[in-house]
Amino acid sequence: MTVDSKKSLAGLGRAELAAELALLGAEPFRARQLWHWIYHRGATDFAAMSSLARGFREVLAARYTLDRPSIAAAQTSRDGTRKWLLRLADGHEVETVHIPEEDRGTLCVSSQVGCTLTCRFCHTGTQRLVRNLGAAEIVGQVMLARDALGEWPSSKDERELTNIVLMGMGEPLYNFDNVAAAMKIVMDPEGLAISRRKITLSTAGVVPMIARCGAEIGVNLAISLHAVRDDVRDVLVPLNKKYPLAALLEACRNYPGSSNARRITFEYVMLKGVNDSPAEARELVRLLKGIPAKVNLIPFNPWPGAPYECASDAAIAAFSDIVFAAGYSAPVRTPRGRDILAACGQLKSASVKSRASRLPVPAAL
Ligand code: SAH
Repeated sequence: MTVDSKKSLAGLGRAELAAELALLGAEPFRARQLWHWIYHRGATDFAAMSSLARGFREVLAARYTLDRPSIAAAQTSRDGTRKWLLRLADGHEVETVHIPEEDRGTLCVSSQVGCTLTCRFCHTGTQRLVRNLGAAEIVGQVMLARDALGEWPSSKDERELTNIVLMGMGEPLYNFDNVAAAMKIVMDPEGLAISRRKITLSTAGVVPMIARCGAEIGVNLAISLHAVRDDVRDVLVPLNKKYPLAALLEACRNYPGSSNARRITFEYVMLKGVNDSPAEARELVRLLKGIPAKVNLIPFNPWPGAPYECASDAAIAAFSDIVFAAGYSAPVRTPRGRDILAACGQLKSASVKSRASRLPVPAAL
């Protein structure tokens, strides 16, 4: 067996790990020990697994690796936001972003290479190449961030990676099974141990999958709304033609586990002259009636060749005031990492960029 053909155990779920060990004839408690080393301790080397017999460690090392997706490039913004371009085993690439804040740090995780949704204002939507990420490739993004931030073991206090948002490249509800499998590992108290309350899944509105998301993963839900009328949303988020506003809001009304303490976030990108009027703010309030909601106003982040402009500060402030006056929290999201194209909607992996425009590779992380 060549080195390259070894399988990585990092990213496997409990059942898969147990199955691999059963192939080796190992006893079931070995799987629990390995789980601890992989997901609690973040081991990258079998040799470090001191609770396992040396012979067993050697057997494992001969057959498996603990590799994460490899880092093709890493960049740090002036504001501390970090972006990693990951190269997957088949050569495709995705991006993961870490956004440090005063009281928390959020990792923005990708669920697909590219995206099929073609939202008009989103850079990722212009990337034609698309495939689903496997569960291990999704978990691998979290593990790699922990490696880079030096945050093992999982029980470490005062960490920089406290929250996860499934808001990177791709539509997570088009890759539900792998996203769910990955989040189970991330949420496992003996695994990466990030609580479902600290995880938010953002969807453009794949209505039939919303109930399953609540029932089977139970994470916080964010909806990329962006418009209050179907004719406008049909253009901005073409998925709206399939699942129009009324159906989407009905699914939100029924989202399992939502409550005033756990509100659904409605993301609304502010586009000049397209969706930024006071009348639309009032309509938004009307639409959200009866849903435990908060609104996140996202100033449009430009990208090369984008067909829109960001709304003016005055328009955004007026919009926010109207929504806020109706009793909803309506913060304006500060763009982060714009200088390294790491802000919302700016991710587009080098899979389809020319080599010349590749991100610079710094010497070290
Ligand atoms: N497909 C999912 C996950 C992507 S999340 C979804 O649509 O929710 C990415 C978030 O950034 C979405 O709310 C998206 O609408 C928003 N976004 C996309 N392009 C943007 C841009 N150029 N400026 C600001 N926000 C953008």
